[in-house]
Amino acid sequence: MSKVIIIGGGHAGANVAFSLRKDGFEGEIDIFSNEDFLPYHRPPLSKEFLKKNIEIEKIFFKPDSFYREQNITFHPNASVVYIDTTVKEISTHSSNYAFDYLVFATGSSPRLLPMTNADAKNLFYLRKITDVLEIHSQLDSVKDIVLIGGGYIGLEVASAMIELGANVTILEAEERILKRVTSPELSAFYQSIHEAKGVKVICNSRVSGLLAENQTINCVELESGEKIPTDAVLAGIGAIPNTRLAEDAGLDCNNGIVTDQYCRTANPYILAAGDCANSFNTLLNQNIRLESVPNALSQAKVVASSIVGNELYNKDLPWFWSDQYDLKLQMAGLSNGYDESIILGDIEAAEFIVCYGKAGYLAAVDSVNQSKQFMLFKRALSNGFKLEMSLIKNKDFQPESIFSGSN
Ligand SMILES: Cc1cc2nc3c(=O)[nH]c(=O)nc-3n(C[C@H](O)[C@H](O)[C@H](O)COP(=O)(O)OP(=O)(O)OC[C@H]3O[C@@H](n4cnc5c(N)ncnc54)[C@H](O)[C@@H]3O)c2cc1C
Repeated sequence: MSKVIIIGGGHAGANVAFSLRKDGFEGEIDIFSNEDFLPYHRPPLSKEFLKKNIEIEKIFFKPDSFYREQNITFHPNASVVYIDTTVKEISTHSSNYAFDYLVFATGSSPRLLPMTNADAKNLFYLRKITDVLEIHSQLDSVKDIVLIGGGYIGLEVASAMIELGANVTILEAEERILKRVTSPELSAFYQSIHEAKGVKVICNSRVSGLLAENQTINCVELESGEKIPTDAVLAGIGAIPNTRLAEDAGLDCNNGIVTDQYCRTANPYILAAGDCANSFNTLLNQNIRLESVPNALSQAKVVASSIVGNELYNKDLPWFWSDQYDLKLQMAGLSNGYDESIILGDIEAAEFIVCYGKAGYLAAVDSVNQSKQFMLFKRALSNGFKLEMSLIKNKDFQPESIFSGSN
């Protein structure tokens, strides 16, 4: 009977195991995780769990008993450090384990700040439960916090810290927040929301140094010479796929472990899913690496299908969500390179959708508090519908009509 080893117990890794059992796989399944906790939901780390609104047990995917019932062996605190692809064996610090199929679900790691005092006690990153526990342990002494990076992590942490009563400053190196992922309109909207909540947003601000005493940062220095006193710093400046092991094992890596649409590497017994994978997506007709829960879940199903001999493949539309204050942002499709955009709804009321077009057709949408309409656009894009931007621009256009045929 086959043995599957999964490296990484995050969204992708755990769900490969769950899907394998759902697909009827009866062989051995071992998940190796270098974390000390059962597989858990990562999004709450910058939202409800950071705000202390939910208990740790609530963010676990499943209780301990589920893994036993499903005969899935979970190895906590077990870093995989070496892979021998010839004899099909992995090694942790203490043992070796044979596999028939190996799944990389190693995720990504925060990009680190390359500067002096980056090892200070009050400099945080946000990726794991332990990061949040560390932040919580110091919260009482944090009145002012500087967030380096105005991406999703920075903005969600800003929202949480405001609710926790801190004074928050966001430093963004680009001329606008969220520049890498969205349009100027949406960036401006989110900046105004954060500012209205009391966050100080400083764009075009490059950090030149962290000033510290006794390994504790007390001031962030900008290239402009400005100095911002602070009690703590959190850096959310992007993530890097965890590919070192795969590279050492001789697998093709290029901004992620390269796979085909079946999530297979060039070695048919080695697969990859989630943040660590750069996989071919047939809907987009390109290889892409995505950092999102929906991507990890959908690729986990594809990996399981490839192992049991079914025929799923990557064809899902990229999508993502972010919660800040009472705003639900949902994004679907790829808006990069868009050549026109139109806003449906009411920005003032914080209920709108930005539609992005490429060459006359809808390519992506960003939705704020418009979940129902968002789902219609997402469904249309997922099914490869060619929605003309001219139709969407018509003042009588209703997203509800996309599937009713009245447009
Ligand atoms: C704070 C935060 C908030 C987020 N919010 C959202 C959101 O709102 N919506 C959304 O769609 N996405 C969100 N994301 C992104 C989403 O969580 C990731 O895309 C998702 O976790 C990817 O799943 P994964 O299994 O590929 O990686 P991960 O969940 O990171 O799991 C990888 C696991 O592998 C382990 N590992 C790595 N190397 C080894 C090794 N050698 N041996 C053993 N174990 C190893 C890692 O420690 C980790 O536990 C958020 C991410 C973060 C950090």
